[in-house]
Amino acid sequence: MTLSSIAEHCFNVTRGYLSLPDETAFISETKEAINLTRHQLMEIVFKHWDPFSKQISFSFNGGKDCQVLLIIYLSCLWEFFMQSITNSEFPAQYHRFPFETLPTVYINREETFETLESLIESTRIRYCLSIYESPRNQSTMQAAFSDYLAKHSETTAIVIGIRHTDPFGEDLECVQETDSDWPKFMRIQPLLHWKLANVWSFLIYSGEEICGLYGLGFTSIGSVNSTIPNPYLKESPDHYGSFTHKVNHFKTEQNMSYNESQREGIKVSSVSAKDLEVVRSKEDTKFFPGWYLIDDALERKGRI
Ligand code: FAD
Ligand code: MG
Ligand code: MG
Repeated sequence: MTLSSIAEHCFNVTRGYLSLPDETAFISETKEAINLTRHQLMEIVFKHWDPFSKQISFSFNGGKDCQVLLIIYLSCLWEFFMQSITNSEFPAQYHRFPFETLPTVYINREETFETLESLIESTRIRYCLSIYESPRNQSTMQAAFSDYLAKHSETTAIVIGIRHTDPFGEDLECVQETDSDWPKFMRIQPLLHWKLANVWSFLIYSGEEICGLYGLGFTSIGSVNSTIPNPYLKESPDHYGSFTHKVNHFKTEQNMSYNESQREGIKVSSVSAKDLEVVRSKEDTKFFPGWYLIDDALERKGRI
């Protein structure tokens, strides 16, 4: 894949989602969420910063939220490129997609699951990311980003897959400067309005491979020592048994997936033997997959 072809693919995935029948409320809500994100990127962000300059970087940690945002961001890059062709006096064959890789930053400070690290690597290749990975010795996220900016001084804005339902996410805005205790740059946060169900719905339809840990019942992935499968997804009845919605709410998205092979089963990356052992040493029961959970308030219940 080249960045141009994966961006076109992401555009087709997004367009495919938008033409799904409104069979469930999740689908119609997710279409609205996509349209707002698309509007923010095309009409606000790309009007202010040229996405084909190196002013904008993408922050990526392999999680489901930044994966959704990456697909929609690339879709918008393709759309932006196509608009520039339409507006140009030169015919299409004289235009080349201006970027070969997407400037991306990954802060790797914690003990990370091997499975997540492999997904980040396969994502790097599939989506043509030029990933800057911070050295392990960074004391804080702020220090790690200072270091990034020192090495990439052309960066003025960073795209972040944070949502309003994340801790301290409630009052954030799509475009805002960093806080005073952070290095200075603009934060671009076009996923704030997305609910957990929208994230699963879009990812499942996309048929893109997602991190295998979600298949084991993880719903939010932090460091190895601080994350377990979400107890609200336990298969066996126990004190979490009152949680009655342990079903796949996204059958339509799966059956009509953009990627036909996904229709057999949701595509998750393989879990490393070491990670399987870590999970089994902490939990001996089985869990439903992460996408069975749609309550935003329970998303981080697997964080200890
Ligand atoms: P997650 O869902 O894990 O992360 C949300 C998003 O943050 C991800 O989708 C990804 O885009 C990004 N992200 C998270 N972890 C990483 C990582 N290790 N490497 C690369 N990207 C990552 N907090 C403040 O209080 N003030 C600020 O000014 C501020 N500026 C920030 C600027 C950037 C570029 C980033 C990435 C974070 C910033 N934060 C700031 C922290 C932010 O608000 C979240 O607390 C932080 O991203 C952790 O998110 P999470 O674990 O709660 O959720
Ligand atoms: Mg998240
Ligand atoms: Mg996190």
